[in-house]
Amino acid sequence: MFDVIIAGCGPTGAMLAAELRLHDVRVLVLEKETEPASFVRIVGLHIRSLELMAMRGLLDSILQHGRRRPAGGFFAAIPKPAPKGLDSAYAYLLGIPQPVIERLLEEHAIKLGAQVRRGCAVAGFEQDDEGVTVELSDGEQLRSRYLVGCDGARSTVRKLLGVGFPGEPSRTDTLMGEMKVGVPQEEIAAKVTEISETHQPFWLRPFGEGVYSVLVPAAGVSDRAEPPTLEDFKQQLRTIAGTDFGVHSPRWLSRFGDATRLAERYRVGRVLLAGDAAHIHPPIGGQGLNLGVQDAFNLGWKLAAQIRGWAPETLLDTYQTERHPVAEDVLDNTRAQVELLSTEPGPQAVRRLLTELMDFDEVNRHLIEKITAIGIRYDFGEGPDLLGRRLRDIDVKQGHLYGLLRRGRGLLLDRTERLTVGGWSDRIDYLADPTAELDVPCVLLRPDGHVAWIGDDQQDLDDHLSRWFGKPAD
Ligand SMILES: Cc1cc2nc3c(=O)[nH]c(=O)nc-3n(C[C@H](O)[C@H](O)[C@H](O)COP(=O)(O)OP(=O)(O)OC[C@H]3O[C@@H](n4cnc5c(N)ncnc54)[C@H](O)[C@@H]3O)c2cc1C
Repeated sequence: MFDVIIAGCGPTGAMLAAELRLHDVRVLVLEKETEPASFVRIVGLHIRSLELMAMRGLLDSILQHGRRRPAGGFFAAIPKPAPKGLDSAYAYLLGIPQPVIERLLEEHAIKLGAQVRRGCAVAGFEQDDEGVTVELSDGEQLRSRYLVGCDGARSTVRKLLGVGFPGEPSRTDTLMGEMKVGVPQEEIAAKVTEISETHQPFWLRPFGEGVYSVLVPAAGVSDRAEPPTLEDFKQQLRTIAGTDFGVHSPRWLSRFGDATRLAERYRVGRVLLAGDAAHIHPPIGGQGLNLGVQDAFNLGWKLAAQIRGWAPETLLDTYQTERHPVAEDVLDNTRAQVELLSTEPGPQAVRRLLTELMDFDEVNRHLIEKITAIGIRYDFGEGPDLLGRRLRDIDVKQGHLYGLLRRGRGLLLDRTERLTVGGWSDRIDYLADPTAELDVPCVLLRPDGHVAWIGDDQQDLDDHLSRWFGKPAD
């Protein structure tokens, strides 16, 4: 009997397994593939995901495998630098191959004690009042208290659960890949600027070491069921640019559609959905993996609390009430970005207008906070603007705030030095620091770093501790 079975060891499943293990939850991850994915797709880890990695002590090892890039220029590929003074200690984008992220997260989960079984596909399940019986494709049956489908866009768990996945089917395919070019950079730059004005979606961006990221429409290219070839890219480049830039030595080539769908529910009884199993959208802006990892971060401590027995009655349901609107917003901003990449005159005019508007700091800041997920504010009720937002990493007397969140526990950061976490000290750490860089007296942070309470009154604090962390220990 496991506490939680997770279907799928992609980035979402691995992150969730690790978060659950921080609370000693017995976790089994079932992954249908026998080997980790080798498909090299460079993804961008946006600011909020880098913050999560910093909170769990993973950032240093992840940085060793990635390439820091400026945070700006990702919204619909409009080349505007990020505004100055972004509210984060990690205000950059990290370009990193997806298989590396997956490996590091899986290793992290295993190190914390998660079991990962490869070559095991979830084929069915049944839930009852006490738990879920999970059936594998070879007929083996396993039992757990909860099942989480982190099994990607074609999620078996979601389908078996009968949860609707409304949205738009794919209308247009795009080719994306990384390869070397055979002509000098200056020659490319001039041509690319010219073509970008008349052709979208299109880019040819240097990615370092002579490698370029290439994005071209897939219209008219071979069979959709077949993986794209270098020749497909050459053909599309010749059509658009009159030259194929001598592209060669591809690192990876892919084709993706623009289907956009969102699961109607994230939870049915003891079965939950997270990551691509719950939402899909085109990769423009690079938010999918980030969104899934952040789902896992939101769900982990809540599901652990449910299993440990201290979760307030409605805590687990806040996973859906908090994360569903976030995914809705990502789907919407991606729809907008897809429109902005259209070659039609109307969308092109809107693109020009938005490009102008982004010269206003507030517009640029709003879009970048959206795409990097640092602008998220969960609805925790009335209160100061900081309530419901994540707190940036700040200096505290013991070093960095995020360094104190590694164990996945709540934290009371008290500048008044008068308050106490009392009977919740088995779930919440306490730091008295009158010098902390905060302009409020005291904040209560959830294990995901979001601000659950602000104030200086012990009774009010106790009410909020009960709301988020259940009854105090005797
Ligand atoms: C070209 C391209 C570029 C992208 N760039 C970015 C980017 O820059 N930034 C970004 O954030 N996102 C990006 N994405 C999106 C990102 O790749 C996905 O959002 C991310 O992989 C989702 O992670 P996941 O763990 O939810 O699902 P997946 O990565 O799909 O993992 C699901 C796992 O479940 C396993 N599985 C499936 N069915 C079963 C079953 N029945 N039983 C057991 N296991 C099962 C699968 O084998 C897989 O390992 C990009 C996508 C594409 C196509």
